[in-house]
Amino acid sequence: MNLTNYHSHTNYCDGHATIEEFIQTAIELNFTSYGISSHAPLPFSTRWNMEWDRVDDYLKECAEAKEKLGDQIEIYTGLEMDYLHEDYNPAMDKFQAIPLDYRIGSVHFLELDSGGYVDIDSGEELFKENVDKYFHHDYEEVIIRYFDAMRRMIALGGFDFLGHCDKISKNTSANAKGITQASFYKEIIRDYFETIAESGLMIEINTKAYDTTGMFFPNEEHFALIRELEIPVLVNSDSHRLHKINSGRKEGLKALVNARFDTVMELKNKEWTAVPIHSSYRI
Ligand SMILES: [Zn+2]
Ligand SMILES: [Zn+2]
Repeated sequence: MNLTNYHSHTNYCDGHATIEEFIQTAIELNFTSYGISSHAPLPFSTRWNMEWDRVDDYLKECAEAKEKLGDQIEIYTGLEMDYLHEDYNPAMDKFQAIPLDYRIGSVHFLELDSGGYVDIDSGEELFKENVDKYFHHDYEEVIIRYFDAMRRMIALGGFDFLGHCDKISKNTSANAKGITQASFYKEIIRDYFETIAESGLMIEINTKAYDTTGMFFPNEEHFALIRELEIPVLVNSDSHRLHKINSGRKEGLKALVNARFDTVMELKNKEWTAVPIHSSYRI
């Protein structure tokens, strides 16, 4: 039934329950495998990232959950890692040295020419303030910089799948209506997915915002292109709360079926495996 999720935050970052509570909830919902992926440390403090001195405890707690509950569900330890710049990204030695089952690569910040970083992932209002302040109200510029950062992260590698790979569409389209339908955007997107296909990386269909906005990341309008390019996909809820771990999963699978996908990627015995999408999602 494709009951899996590999993007899940915990109280080691900005999630609202423990590792064990998330896994217990997944077991109650008959999930077959579950991946924990707190926000990896950054070189500065935020209200949502794990600190470096917490990593060992995080690994230990994941190992204890595997020991305790691993006979009921396959449990995997991951991290969601940020691309900040050429020297701080999922490929860096310090991240690669962490013994993990898998890694997510995401962009939540843009680097400023003057130094420092701007959060482009939080709410639409803060986003507008940041674009006004740091990018002279220029949404096109922010979109170009976002996809440039994603491309650099892809080129450097060091992770298994891209996190919410066009999430910039949410905050930009909320503030500049129709911008994702502009020709410049469509050109960037086509080229971007071609780059992903060449990289061999997987992408997640991130369903976190589906119940509030009706959006998946990547947006559903790109599913046909992703299918055409044969990019492997998995469906993840990016849950921060226990009641959200199954949110949007069925809808994501149905949307994939509509775009003629036959399989999704799941971890089985520690290997990423293409698993057929269950017939119940084909209605
Ligand atoms: Zn993220
Ligand atoms: Zn996340």
